Amino acid sequence: MHIQSLFIDFPARALLLLSLVGVAVAQDRTTEQGEAQISECTPYYYAPVSTQIHNFPPIWTPATILANDTAAQAKWNSIAASIPTNILPKGQPNGSTINVTYDTVNDPDCWWTVHQCTTPKLAGLPMDIASVPEPKTMGYGFDDGPNCSHNAFYDFLESQNQKATMFYIGSNVMDWPLEAQRALADGHEISVHTWSHRYMTSFSSEDAFAELYYTMQAIKLVTGVTPTSWRPPFGDVDDRIRAIANALGLQTIIWKYDSNDWKNGVNGITPQDVDADYQYFIDNVTSGTFNTVGGIMLTHELNNYTMSEAIKYYPQLQAAFTHMVPIGVALNKTQPYVETNYSLPTFSQYVAGQTNVSGGSNSSSGGSSSGGGSTSGGSTQSGGKNSALPAVIAGGLGPLLDHEP
Ligand SMILES: [Zn+2]
Repeated sequence: MHIQSLFIDFPARALLLLSLVGVAVAQDRTTEQGEAQISECTPYYYAPVSTQIHNFPPIWTPATILANDTAAQAKWNSIAASIPTNILPKGQPNGSTINVTYDTVNDPDCWWTVHQCTTPKLAGLPMDIASVPEPKTMGYGFDDGPNCSHNAFYDFLESQNQKATMFYIGSNVMDWPLEAQRALADGHEISVHTWSHRYMTSFSSEDAFAELYYTMQAIKLVTGVTPTSWRPPFGDVDDRIRAIANALGLQTIIWKYDSNDWKNGVNGITPQDVDADYQYFIDNVTSGTFNTVGGIMLTHELNNYTMSEAIKYYPQLQAAFTHMVPIGVALNKTQPYVETNYSLPTFSQYVAGQTNVSGGSNSSSGGSSSGGGSTSGGSTQSGGKNSALPAVIAGGLGPLLDHEP
């Protein structure tokens, strides 16, 4: 239901946006203050996007390198030789794995979708981030934004002086650029969640590159910064896709716990089920699971239900965990962007109350944090176990698709 409803919404939204291109709009949506006075989720004209949109793939459509985009082509050409060619695309962009042939027993490609593999088998790739190193700490983040109705949620986070990692879909960034800007202004960490939110392992390597590359470009266009991390939609990543992300300087962020908030109303999943998943995560704090390592739970900025659920559980999460911090902060990744004029506080700075990024256009208080901390948690995995294992006819991996967006 979630995916279908998104796909139905996407073209309508795209048409609305396009229909406004070139139309003078009296309302002032160029400042946060002006934007806040206008009803949410009304498409608007924003010159920096509308004048550049022809340099991007059509929004909500699987990305490909544009024919006239020499910069993107040059970047792809510069990394293509480092991308494995013996790991083939898997299934369809909508997640169908009918007729997929794969050795699910040995999982040679470290395909997360099969066994939640996070330790690459291809030499030279860093491990995925599925936990955070700080004990009793939640690496706090939300997928699928920016959502045009997120102001109440972001207001809540602001009221708590709470920052998070926001995994943004490139097409949403183009649709809602001012909402994306708010994340940076509020001191959240922005990460990449692909251009069209499809299953990444289904794409050719060049198209998977385009999904990541154009999202990085969109976030740069709108916010001025270029992320250095990403999260695969549905968790659908293998060593081929990891190699592409790694070549683009993107750290792969995954999760170990799933709130299943996006599934509310899907296949009989009820709000009680989602509550139980939140509670399960909280119970793991109590039972000591996070006494030596912190946790990451998948949650969403997808709709008003998922955001209200986040608000509802915030006090309990905060009571259970000693610290709740953006994932980059938990990793002491003080420089989350390519641009060096923005930095995150170190973990110790953040938990001491210095929660703002430096360089933010709208940082509310002082306490800028200088960069310089080293990144932990991304140790290089070697020992490539990439031997040619006998192929097993899996005959369709239907149940494996029951993962998150
Ligand atoms: Zn998603």
